[in-house]
Amino acid sequence: MRFSTKAIHVGQAPEPATGATVPPIHVTSTYTQAAPGVHKGFEYSRTDNPTRRNLEECLAALEGGAAAAAFASGLAATSAVVGALLRPGDSAVAYSDLYGGTYRLFEQVFKPWGLVPRYTDSTDPAVIADLIDRTTRLVWIETPTNPMLRLLDIAAVARAVREKETLLKSNATSTTGQAPLKSSGTPEILLAVDNTFATPALQQPLALGADLVVHSTTKYMGGHSDVIGGAVVTARAETLTPIRFYQNAAGGVPGPFDCFLVHRGLKTLDVRMRRHCENALRVAEWAARQAAFEHVIYPGLPSHPQHELAQRQMCGFGGMVTCVLAGGLEAARRFLSATKLFACAESLGGVESLINHPATMTHASMPRAVRERVGIVDGLVRLSVGLEDADDLIEDLAVALVRR
Ligand SMILES: *Cc1c(COP(=O)(O)O)cnc(C)c1O
Repeated sequence: MRFSTKAIHVGQAPEPATGATVPPIHVTSTYTQAAPGVHKGFEYSRTDNPTRRNLEECLAALEGGAAAAAFASGLAATSAVVGALLRPGDSAVAYSDLYGGTYRLFEQVFKPWGLVPRYTDSTDPAVIADLIDRTTRLVWIETPTNPMLRLLDIAAVARAVREKETLLKSNATSTTGQAPLKSSGTPEILLAVDNTFATPALQQPLALGADLVVHSTTKYMGGHSDVIGGAVVTARAETLTPIRFYQNAAGGVPGPFDCFLVHRGLKTLDVRMRRHCENALRVAEWAARQAAFEHVIYPGLPSHPQHELAQRQMCGFGGMVTCVLAGGLEAARRFLSATKLFACAESLGGVESLINHPATMTHASMPRAVRERVGIVDGLVRLSVGLEDADDLIEDLAVALVRR
């Protein structure tokens, strides 16, 4: 099956008892057993639930992965990756332009627990590989990044990680005093890609060599700004085993109705992403002609420094547009208060357009110095371009520019 067919049919077998074309939402915490231990594969809904299982099958199919685990939020999914795969003292290498909540999770939850996070401002795979040492178990990237919409070349990063890993393994046998890396056939350093911005409709990291993909399904996957959810999809089934254990042991699971909402969103993901891309390109092209914007960032504009990589790596440039307004904080505040269709709100990826001020909203938990090094200046605004008529969206922004 091809992408849109999988989105509609995987995990959606008609219900056997009634023939219901759309499987029912299994609102149950437990399952009646014929005798102790004699059941139909479900015992307790933290461990497994049919509605969740359907969603997980569909998510794995869409990312081209072996298996998936759904979580109560994107950050619960990220927590499961770090908590299940790393041990205190292990390091994780991350590209610094990270979702603010991921940065906060690494710095304020996992660092006290023993994680050693290492950040680089470089998109160069060689620089990323340089930060990897014998303690590294995880390389974490987002592409396109939030909110700077920088791209990382997933295939090149995956190659650099594998090469560095091979080098570390061969050194391990010659160096004394250091315990050699475990030498199972599986890679010890996992490359994780947060694919929230692109979704598998536009980019499939596992096919490019990543080991796992993490999602906030709250965004484009759910697509209607009405549910919080997350997911991990792995290239190999073994990688998911500890994550699946963690899902049950730590318990950050989504409820059946949330799973239903995300799954319903997936069915239209492909058409929605196409329209998000079309609308965002229209908005970006218009914005680039306005003198009030010092700078417009969109991977689909030829002026984007990685436009060529975007064309190669993605099959659409996404629905996010980032603009830097002349006039800094005050101009940005007035602009965000003046739009009517673009709602001033956190989050992104829904059918309705949203406008966000990263410096004071999504990325406020990042220290100013870190934020500004990444490029999140006070005049920067992030647009999540929705599915309204693009002409209405452009008019809304044009009026707000005048009122700014
Ligand atoms: C929103 C978001 C997250 C966190 O997801 P939640 O569902 O809010 O927990 C992680 N990564 C990216 C890129 C996001 O946009």
